[in-house]
Amino acid sequence: MKKKYTRHPVFIKVPGSVGGFCVGSPLNGRVTKAEPIRRRSALRLGAGLTAALATGCAADEHPAATPAPKAHPARPAESARAAPAPRRFPGQPAQLTHGPRDRDRVALTFHGQGDPKIADAVLKEAEKAGAHVTVLAVGTWLDQHPDMARRILDAGHDLGNHTLHHQGINTMSEADATAEITGCADRLRRLTGSIGTWFRPSRTPTATPLVVRLAQRAGYPHVLSYDVDSLDFTSPGADAVVENVTSAVRPGSVVSLHFGYADTVAALPPLLDHLSRRGLAAVTCTELLT
Ligand SMILES: [Zn+2]
Repeated sequence: MKKKYTRHPVFIKVPGSVGGFCVGSPLNGRVTKAEPIRRRSALRLGAGLTAALATGCAADEHPAATPAPKAHPARPAESARAAPAPRRFPGQPAQLTHGPRDRDRVALTFHGQGDPKIADAVLKEAEKAGAHVTVLAVGTWLDQHPDMARRILDAGHDLGNHTLHHQGINTMSEADATAEITGCADRLRRLTGSIGTWFRPSRTPTATPLVVRLAQRAGYPHVLSYDVDSLDFTSPGADAVVENVTSAVRPGSVVSLHFGYADTVAALPPLLDHLSRRGLAAVTCTELLT
C-alpha cells in the first residue's frame, strides 16, 4: 500500500519508493500484519545502545560534524585478499535504484556508520539467515573502526563508498564533492585493496548529474540509490521498519537501511523471514545486478 508522508518540509519523493527521504517520524503506531517482532536482538544489545548514534542519511538526523580522527595505519595486506573492484553493468543506468524485476532477489543496503557492536549485530542477523548485504561505509567511520572493512568483506558482503564525512554532497562545490568521494575511496583502497564496489551519495537518495560524473571519474561506473526506504533512521520501532519494507519490496528492490539503530537489528529477523516466505533471496547488490 502506498503511504503518504507529509509532515516534513523537505520531503523528497523517490520514484517507486515506499516513502521518501528526510521524513520525520510519521510512522508511530503503525503495526505489521501478523508478524510478532523478535525482541531478543534489541534486548541483547542493551538499553545503552538504543540511544546511540543518530546517523541516518537524513540531514536533520545528523549530529554536527565532528573532526575526523587521524587515520589508523592500514592493516597489513598479507592476510587480505583483494576486495572486488567496481563493475560496469551493461544496460543498467548510471544511477541504479533497483535490479532486474524478473528475478526473485532483493538487496538490503546499509548506511555504514555508528556503533560497531550494532553493525556487527546487524551483520550477524543477516548471516544467520544466509543473507548477504551491501554496506556503504562512511570514510571517517572506517578511520575509527578499520577492522569493520574486513569484517564485512570476509563474510561475503559487498562494501562500498558512502563519502568521507557524510555531508550533503549534492550541494557541494565540485572540488569538495570530489574530495568526499576520493577521501572515502582512498580509505577503502588502503584497507582492502579496492575502492569498493559501489558509491552511494550522502544525505540524499539520488545524486545530481554532477555527482554522478564525479563518482564515475573516481572509478564507480554506477551510483547506487534505492527504491525502498525502511526509514529505520527515524527510530519508528522495529514493527514499523518491517512494515515499511515488506509493504513495498518486490523482486529487484534495493532497500535502504542503516547501521546504528537497535530497531534495525530487531527488524531484521522478521524481515528476512518475510522475504524467505515470498521466495525473495537477500543478496549483495553485485549479485542482484549480475
Ligand atoms: Zn547515509
